[in-house]
Amino acid sequence: MSILIWITLSKYSLLHLTTKYTMYRKGLAALPNVEVLSPLVTRVLGQNPGPKTLQGTNTYLVGKYPNVVLIDTGEPDKKSYTDLLRDTVRSSNLTVKGIIITHWHPDHLGGCGTVRTLLDEMWTSGNKTMCSNHGGDCAILGDSKVPEQCNVPVFKMPHAFDSEIAPGQNMHHLHDKQLVEVSEGCTLRVLHTPGHTDDSICLHLLQENSLFSADTVLGGSSGEFSNYTHYIKSLNRLRELAPVRVYPGHGQVEDGGVVDRYLSHRQDREGQVLAALRGEESHVGVGKLTEIVYQNENLHPGLVVAAQGIVGLMLEKLRADGTAREVEDGFWVAT
Ligand SMILES: [Zn+2]
Ligand SMILES: [Zn+2]
Repeated sequence: MSILIWITLSKYSLLHLTTKYTMYRKGLAALPNVEVLSPLVTRVLGQNPGPKTLQGTNTYLVGKYPNVVLIDTGEPDKKSYTDLLRDTVRSSNLTVKGIIITHWHPDHLGGCGTVRTLLDEMWTSGNKTMCSNHGGDCAILGDSKVPEQCNVPVFKMPHAFDSEIAPGQNMHHLHDKQLVEVSEGCTLRVLHTPGHTDDSICLHLLQENSLFSADTVLGGSSGEFSNYTHYIKSLNRLRELAPVRVYPGHGQVEDGGVVDRYLSHRQDREGQVLAALRGEESHVGVGKLTEIVYQNENLHPGLVVAAQGIVGLMLEKLRADGTAREVEDGFWVAT
């Protein structure tokens, strides 16, 4: 995404104070542009590698041949991605029945318009007559409300920024626990998992007991959050599923243990914040607390603000837990 767009968006979310940290990220695995990951899952890389997006946004074609859905659409107007997607869909003779967007961030929702145009063209120029009956293939979720136009339906948890990131997309709204029957032998269950963003979803692929974790859990890198309390609740919810495999929004495929590793990393950090707070004789500011917590980690100066953002969000959770109190603006004590 261009810097201009990113700066424009940055006012919308505290996330962008916390997005650049990758404090325990080791080297990133090289990922092929297109990879068949299981009989039901193919990953198509979004062609947008970067410090925030790692190897690029992972988009997934999910379903049993020939009927699939596309999870996420990458960045806006990324021709190299839409070319790759077109070639992948054509070469495998797939029918993309719908698009599911995991959250409003532009590296997931931004490409929606372009991708939808591509898939619409493939429907009409190809051999598909799926839209001849709006009550049929369009309504893959059993939703009686379908788009006016004869085009590929898009599904997403609603969010105020949707219309700015992807104007005019006339999306169907998902809800928690909704079942998506993609094709025979392929069912996705929608899980509303706020924390990374408040509209974030994960998708549980029931036949595999695998999980599309979007940006709630990444592969080979730490996650990001805009609300720490919600984030931890969502991670605990994912852990209860005990998935055997996790397909993240960025990075390599992980085993199900990644959710536990995420939780323990966060709990360790939270414990460090509380210990630092308890180690001070009087109230202490977020800046000082951050220095204490990260003192042994050789924190890059460019990451200090992000680290302060993380500590601040953790303090909010400690306040909700009743173990910390803000005595004046930005200054805290343990209770
Ligand atoms: Zn995101
Ligand atoms: Zn992302």
